[in-house]
Amino acid sequence: MIIQKFGGTSVGNAQRIKHVAELVQSEPRKIVVLSAVAGTTNKLVEITQALYREDKSTVGELIEGLKTEYNVLINDLYSDKERIEHVAQMLEGHWNHIYAFTLDMFTPFEERAVLAQGELISTSLFQFYLEEIGADSIRIDALSFMRIDQQLEPDEWYIKDNLNRLLSENTANILITQGFICRNHFGEVDNLKRGGSDYTASIIGVAVEATEVQIWTDIDGMHNNDPRVVNVTKPIERLSFDEAAELAYFGAKILHPSSVQPARRANIPVVLKSTMASEKPGTIISNAPSGNFIKAVAAKDGITAIKIKSGRMLMAYGFLRKVFEVFERHKVSIDMITTSEVAVSLTIDSHENLDPLVKELRAFGVVEVETNQCIVCIVGHLIQEEPGHAALIFNCLASIPLRMISYGGSKNNVSLLIHENDKESALRALNFGLFNLD
Ligand code: ADP
Ligand code: ASP
Ligand code: MG
Repeated sequence: MIIQKFGGTSVGNAQRIKHVAELVQSEPRKIVVLSAVAGTTNKLVEITQALYREDKSTVGELIEGLKTEYNVLINDLYSDKERIEHVAQMLEGHWNHIYAFTLDMFTPFEERAVLAQGELISTSLFQFYLEEIGADSIRIDALSFMRIDQQLEPDEWYIKDNLNRLLSENTANILITQGFICRNHFGEVDNLKRGGSDYTASIIGVAVEATEVQIWTDIDGMHNNDPRVVNVTKPIERLSFDEAAELAYFGAKILHPSSVQPARRANIPVVLKSTMASEKPGTIISNAPSGNFIKAVAAKDGITAIKIKSGRMLMAYGFLRKVFEVFERHKVSIDMITTSEVAVSLTIDSHENLDPLVKELRAFGVVEVETNQCIVCIVGHLIQEEPGHAALIFNCLASIPLRMISYGGSKNNVSLLIHENDKESALRALNFGLFNLD
């Protein structure tokens, strides 16, 4: 069995949905994970913001916009008039459901229910289309098997048990389900955070012991640099799980940051493919080692750097433990760390809980906080064992102030902290200096 996940742009209009329907009809049996139609989740986010403001008219306008968009889509997608009528009624039910949230108090509980509508809709539309063309498919509801626990981690045993039961009850060759959405430990509708459909695919892959997880998107694999920032990039043929995980975590949007972990643990290859250019090889992510060279760079902004300067660090043991405990108590995870004899610098990627956290850290010494920082991450296989890589990287960035350098944390990664304003020039300089690309 394989898992095929299709992102928002892959199901962005009727033509694309029809193309996805062709792609899923090959052997073997598969679970197809779908995102919401491109742009829908963003619109649902806007709706939730208006609902928090109790701005009924904006909610109404935004729903009207979605209605018009989906009306075009279903008229292009189906040829059977009765089916169009039926699907239009189903959509009406979704819009009414969303609008009904204007009637009562709006809390994060209702917010998550609104955000779930995108995937619920896209999977219905797709199943109705497969029905129209006579494909052997069925929709199974992610809310009946995908669950996260109190730590927001996938509840593996529950997922495996319920999904495998659904697989034995439904013998269809193509099983369609929603990415992104799940239930939490209270049984409420929740989600795996933005971009979470990739994570869904990987979690499902492990639960059903799939032979492969395919992530179909709008680009032919993981590229050597961020195509949104630099002009020319090229796809990477092979990556190890570790390399892909580093890139996903440090900003390569093509993969949700957590999506590699489940597949890595179960050693299930993840293949990144382009829906629009399915003939291209894409990227294979697996355990196989794949060449001793620098493969890609990625950047993650919105980073905050915290420096703690303390005389007490000098020759003292237990100092770092006490500092880390403060972060642990505030549930803030640390990305990068560098130390000197009198100071420690750390980065975090959230602003939440910052004031109380900093207040507690002041007990250890002088605390400096710098926001709007960016981690640039250079990834490859064994790059620290090959001489010259560091020199090459620093040469490229000679004109950019480097705030922190993390080297030696793993065999796959060199990370640098710079100001967000320097991100574009850093990625461009690395593209030219490391890959000879513009
Ligand atoms: P989907 O909707 O299919 O999940 P995403 O928009 O989440 O697609 O991810 C695909 C996008 O990721 C690409 O269009 C590209 O702009 C962006 N991206 C960022 N970094 C990279 C990279 N290193 N390689 C490929 N794509 C990248
Ligand atoms: N639809 C969700 C989002 O836009 C999940 C996903 O696309 O992966 O974030
Ligand atoms: Mg995505």
